[in-house]
Amino acid sequence: MTTRETYQAVEGMYHNLNTLQSRSGNQLPFTSINYGTCTLPEGRMIIKALLDASIEGNGRLHKTPIFPCGIFQCMKGVNRDPGDPNYDLYKLALESTAKRLYPNYANVDWTGNIGYDRNDPRTYFSTMGCRTANGFDINGFGQLKDGRGNICPVTIILPTIAMEATEKYKNTDYFDARDGIANFMDLLDEKIHQAKDMLLERFEYICSQSPASAKFMYENGTMEGYIPEEGIRSALKHGTIVIGQLGLAECLQILIKTDHTTEEGMKLAKRIEQLFKDRCAEFKQDYKLNFGVYYTPAENLCYTAMTRFKAKYGEIPNVSENDFFTNSMHVPVWKEMSPFDKIDIESQLTGYSSAGCITYVELDSGVKNNIEALETIVNYAMDKDIPYFAINVPNDMCTNCGYTDEINDVCPQCGSDKIQRLRRVTGYLTGDYKTAFNLGKQQETEMRFKHSKMLRGWKE
Ligand SMILES: [Zn+2]
Repeated sequence: MTTRETYQAVEGMYHNLNTLQSRSGNQLPFTSINYGTCTLPEGRMIIKALLDASIEGNGRLHKTPIFPCGIFQCMKGVNRDPGDPNYDLYKLALESTAKRLYPNYANVDWTGNIGYDRNDPRTYFSTMGCRTANGFDINGFGQLKDGRGNICPVTIILPTIAMEATEKYKNTDYFDARDGIANFMDLLDEKIHQAKDMLLERFEYICSQSPASAKFMYENGTMEGYIPEEGIRSALKHGTIVIGQLGLAECLQILIKTDHTTEEGMKLAKRIEQLFKDRCAEFKQDYKLNFGVYYTPAENLCYTAMTRFKAKYGEIPNVSENDFFTNSMHVPVWKEMSPFDKIDIESQLTGYSSAGCITYVELDSGVKNNIEALETIVNYAMDKDIPYFAINVPNDMCTNCGYTDEINDVCPQCGSDKIQRLRRVTGYLTGDYKTAFNLGKQQETEMRFKHSKMLRGWKE
């Protein structure tokens, strides 16, 4: 009876989170749940119910739930290997991912979360579904994740800075890459400092709000640490304020005509990321606020920034031929490589970020029949020290009969052409990407190379 009741409670929660509107009336509340490490019978029962309900789907048509974003916390000795107490739940998680895209995978053993307390799950690496994460709190909470959040972000558009830094070579045959890079690093440093000033101003403005404007958060520990005499700053100072970035790949193309999929490109990429990391560490000490490096989702910015870039600089090969800039430090989506190669490249840069990043790979719908292969890929990412990992699988659903798989034009079961095409656009899923997203993101989604194509012996 308890098992059944738990399942129904979870089912009810899934239903609510996929149908409730937030107060502004236009979006579902964004919700993420990190789970997978509790080995108590009660905890295991809840985790199993979360996964079973995810696999089953919502309602009559068994729709793939868009919220909550499930995040399975992989942890050595707890769920990673056969014989671990929660290994069965890890297997169930993989089955759910193959069918429903969720859960994603958070890496509790990530070296970037060093200093966490093995006996306190509130300090285990966890993340918001999109990718935002809390690093070490300089104001006393250490690696605590609960009751903290990202207070404000600023994103630097790297390709624009690269253009400004190399402007003097425009319309000349002469190009001195070393000189261009030196200019770029100086200019980037200046922009990082400007981003810091913007964040400080915004942080102070947010802190000037009355606690009454979000009373619930402070009374219920959604934001921990609130001391009435000190105002909301007492709680918000534990959150992170972050400097993000967009278009590392295109930036490198402008500077050295290659991106970080080559050794030369990776070398410069690391120099750039090191500057972000060093400056955020300095600001953190100087201002006693949790500055962090953020690999921005940029759902809309990827498109608007490119539109403006094109208006100013026109179409440049390998830089502005598309309608979007590549997400943060990701490998460009069209690059043909195996999932392992993509992980190898991005894992060299994820360690520079303390405030959130995501790595994902694209697999075809055959993954449902390849759970062992999926496990190998997720394990590989965890062992390569990727903090947050996700798998993209096409998820098309016939809205007439509920058939779910990769569907071409019409439903193979009932012939209907009313197909909803669910895709991961950042860390979250979105309803039909054809209507929910701007042209840049639509194009990006269509250009994504399926990394499973490069796997030998993969059954489609
Ligand atoms: Zn159908």
